Order: sequence, then C-alpha cells, then structure tokens
Amino acid sequence: MTSTDSPDCLFCKIVAGDIPADVVASSDTAIAFRDIAPKAPVHVLVVPKEHYPDVSAFAATDTEGLAGVIGLADGVASELADGQYRLIFNTGPKAGQSVFHVHAHLLAGGELPGFA
Ligand code: AMP
Repeated sequence: MTSTDSPDCLFCKIVAGDIPADVVASSDTAIAFRDIAPKAPVHVLVVPKEHYPDVSAFAATDTEGLAGVIGLADGVASELADGQYRLIFNTGPKAGQSVFHVHAHLLAGGELPGFA
C-alpha cells in the first residue's frame, strides 16, 4: 500500500505536501516533522512515506523501512538535541494512538521524565 492509497490519512497528506508541516529531515522513504503539540523540548514525528496503520503492520512488512525510520530519528536527535532520545510507537487506541499512519515519537532535549 502506498501513501496515495489512503487519501483520508492526515500523515499521508503531510507526506504528499497537501497539509503543511514543520519538516526537519527527510529521506527517500521517511520524513520527520515537529509534533503540533510538543511534549518535550524536541518532539518530532518520524513517519514512513508508505502508509501502514501501525508499527506492527510496518515491522511485519518492511523491516528495511523500519530501520530507515529509526535511522532518521537518530540523525534528527543528533541534529536538534544531544543524541539522547526516547522513541515511542503508540500502537492501538488503548496505547494512545490517534493517527493510524505509523509514526515514531522522537522525544529529546533536556531531562525526560521517567516511567512510573
Ligand atoms: P498518536 O496519538 O501517537 O497517534 O500521535 C499523533 C500525534 O500527531 C500527536 O502527538 C499530535 O499532536 C500529532 N499531530 C496531529 N496533527 C498534527 C499535525 N497536523 N502536524 C503535526 N503533528 C500533528
């Protein structure tokens, strides 16, 4: 499935350039843009250009693409912060996923709160 196969998907529209976003990096297969409601000094979403609903489907189909997302996130963390970061894939509504185009939340910059 390609991004153009999901015309109602918000992140497909960002990938296509139909909705503006603060893009901080991109590769052949992924883009990184700032989250509209940041939860950390650096809060960037890293998304594959291809549409997959979540990381489970993505990992099952495209391990190279998944490695590309992680690599792009790692580079952004070094560019915009000090290379230390948290990478989160919310997967499913109960885990807080609200946009069903797989995306990694890259959180960095300063001290991040620990988990309880
Ligand atoms: P999730 O809840 O894990 O699916 O994450 C979706 C994220 O997308 C949230 O952190 C939102 O703040 C973010 N978001 C929603 N719309 C936009 C947008 N137009 N540009 C950038 N980030 C967005």
